[in-house]
Amino acid sequence: METILVVNTGSSSVKFTLFFSADLQVAASGLVERIGLEGTRLIYRRPGRETIQHLAVIADIGNAIANILPLLTDSRTGVIQSREEIRAIGHRVVHGGEFITQPALIDDRIKKIIQTCYDLAPLHNPPNMEGIMACEKGFPGIPQVAIFDTAFHATIPPQAYLYALPLPLCKELKIRKYGFHGTSHCYVSRKAAECIGRSPSELRLITCHLGNGCSITAVSGGRSVDTSMGFTPLEGTPMGTRCGDIDPAIIFYLMRQRGLDAEQLDILLNWESGLLGLAGTGSSDVRDIITAMQAGNQQAETALRVFTYRIKKYIGAYISALGGVDAVVFTAGIGENSPLIREWICEGLSELGIRLDIHRNQAMNGCLGEIQDTKSRVRLLIVPTNEEAEIAIQTRNLIRI
Ligand code: ADP
Repeated sequence: METILVVNTGSSSVKFTLFFSADLQVAASGLVERIGLEGTRLIYRRPGRETIQHLAVIADIGNAIANILPLLTDSRTGVIQSREEIRAIGHRVVHGGEFITQPALIDDRIKKIIQTCYDLAPLHNPPNMEGIMACEKGFPGIPQVAIFDTAFHATIPPQAYLYALPLPLCKELKIRKYGFHGTSHCYVSRKAAECIGRSPSELRLITCHLGNGCSITAVSGGRSVDTSMGFTPLEGTPMGTRCGDIDPAIIFYLMRQRGLDAEQLDILLNWESGLLGLAGTGSSDVRDIITAMQAGNQQAETALRVFTYRIKKYIGAYISALGGVDAVVFTAGIGENSPLIREWICEGLSELGIRLDIHRNQAMNGCLGEIQDTKSRVRLLIVPTNEEAEIAIQTRNLIRI
């Protein structure tokens, strides 16, 4: 049976999902984590069958990818007969810069563009590229497609993507808002329109992707018109460990007061801030911070208040950017699974037409559906994201299976 393999390569992990092309049902999925570290583990799942997981000796990304095909085709563990049943491979690639606005069939030109963007996404594009190279070797002759996280945001107009810095400098160094999580915002905005029963072209949506990384996007007529992450994923709302928007002058102040250099500031703002830095519970996980708050930890409550207040402000800003809003969509780990966070975000927004139904908010937790009160002018939805499925859909569309 024809299938599409979706590959997501990070610096120390490779995730894969095999979809049947006809109905996009999952045939199998898996993960190799802690590549090149102690305790490298391979996890392999097939619907309705037991999960296989074991420690493995896998030194690098190439080796991890070389392990996938034997699993998929093995007479005991396999779900396809041979490599020939894989019609295409879709890769998640984080950054396509200004050049890429669409899914792209990978050739030398696309690989060059991915490499040109290494400076813009130093943690992501190099391992994404390694995954592509390893698949070219392990699956020769099978078309490979790159789906870029930035591509959905290519429709953002200059008034929203330009920073008020000297323009020649921005042009030379390619400084502008790019936006991230595009594959997720694209998927949930389409799903939300389906759920509401209207065409994306006639809707104004605000999609809130709230996971370890968080981004809010204003979607008008199915196109991204603004998003909270910027030149890098550091901009926007506070996140698990990222600070989000801060006064840029804090950076010079820290340099002068503490003698911090670029590397140290990068670590401070990207890895030691956000909920982790504010709550002081030693965890960036919202579940842990809620537990600490329920045990009476005031600082944990304040951290969650900062988090939800700042999301609320972005929603207000994007209602202005869109000239109104038809639906607000919650997705990703926190957005899908935390009734408390959704409740705090929606609190006090009834003047803007946003009224949450507290019971539905609890009952629908984790599921696709509407959670607004009957008097709410704006629909509120939970839409579980599925970036892998979106990559498979876009790959299938590109190669017209
Ligand atoms: P990533 O951005 O890494 O893909 P996810 O979208 O899976 O992450 O989100 C992970 C985060 O979701 C966790 O760090 C945690 O804060 C949050 N989360 C997951 N489940 C719950 C829950 N039931 N309640 C509150 N937060 C949750």
